[in-house]
Amino acid sequence: MYHAKVYSAASATSSLKSSTILRREPTEHDVQIDILFCGICHSDLHQVRNEWKSTMPTGYPCVPGHEIVGRVTRVGAAVKKFKSGDLAAVGCLVDSDRTCSECQAGLEQFCPNMTLTYNSPDKHLGGVTYGGYSDSIVVDERFVLRVPSHLNLAGVAPLLCAGITTYSPMRHWNVTKGKKVGVVGLGGLGHMGVKFARALEAHVVVFTTSSNKKEDALRLGANEVVVSRDAEAMQKCAGSFDFILDAVSADHDINPYLNLLGRDGNITLVGAPEHPLPVAAFGLIFRRRSLSGSPIGGIAETQGMLDFCGRHNITADVEVIPIQMVNEAYDRLLKSDVKYRFSIDMASLGHE
Ligand SMILES: [Zn+2]
Ligand SMILES: [Zn+2]
Repeated sequence: MYHAKVYSAASATSSLKSSTILRREPTEHDVQIDILFCGICHSDLHQVRNEWKSTMPTGYPCVPGHEIVGRVTRVGAAVKKFKSGDLAAVGCLVDSDRTCSECQAGLEQFCPNMTLTYNSPDKHLGGVTYGGYSDSIVVDERFVLRVPSHLNLAGVAPLLCAGITTYSPMRHWNVTKGKKVGVVGLGGLGHMGVKFARALEAHVVVFTTSSNKKEDALRLGANEVVVSRDAEAMQKCAGSFDFILDAVSADHDINPYLNLLGRDGNITLVGAPEHPLPVAAFGLIFRRRSLSGSPIGGIAETQGMLDFCGRHNITADVEVIPIQMVNEAYDRLLKSDVKYRFSIDMASLGHE
């Protein structure tokens, strides 16, 4: 084992502070990565504060972070995919049972025995896994992704959660050239949804509650922007969409969006509002519409997403911060005061 520098929370009410943890020495299939950037995901904040205690109680100390990009420094003897010096990335998963039907289908995100990058039981050292707010991490090569070398690495980090979370449902629901796609909520997830839908050559419409996001939506790749409070504008789009990505995590009414879908249209939720959403049955029955949700993606699809980003020059729009600003960043995240994702420059951890 070796000591790694981290920022960790000691309890649900304490702020993140500089500390050290133990990591395993790389075993024969492991890759050790020096972390260059780690994105800040809303899940980090929820878990640091133990806000998901009923389904996923937080083990402390908690070292969050599952949008990790860095450089390989050591590899185990049996590692084939990576060598020292390569760029590498790690997302929300660091292991799974590899034997269940989900794993065999390459859908590790549905494995009942998956190991999350942080706050999951650690098979190697006991306790919980520790995430990417750290100077390094050790992960089995099967869960380590290759990174296109020409992309901006600070903007690559958020692809590992926000990126795959929006890319995966678009592929599943067959977003292609000529399809009409809506994106609701222009935050960390939504802004990636706009970029992907545009790169997939769909006609992209962003729905926003305030018209002041219009310019930004167009810059990110939207073909049109509709203010969702404008009932007339909403009615004009009724029945015309193939797919809508709902990336809103606050409580909201989805029925007006169901009404926008055409025959066999689908709306997929990727945000997680606190309370159950009421759904009018006829909104689904007419035109055989469907409502679904989607979590991250499997390892093969995540690699496919990164390769797609390489071909289309897609990265997240980020505000790069030193790790010392992470608590302030959490406060701003709660106010949606970021365009569109924080990415921590992990070189700043060297100053601790
Ligand atoms: Zn995340
Ligand atoms: Zn499995």
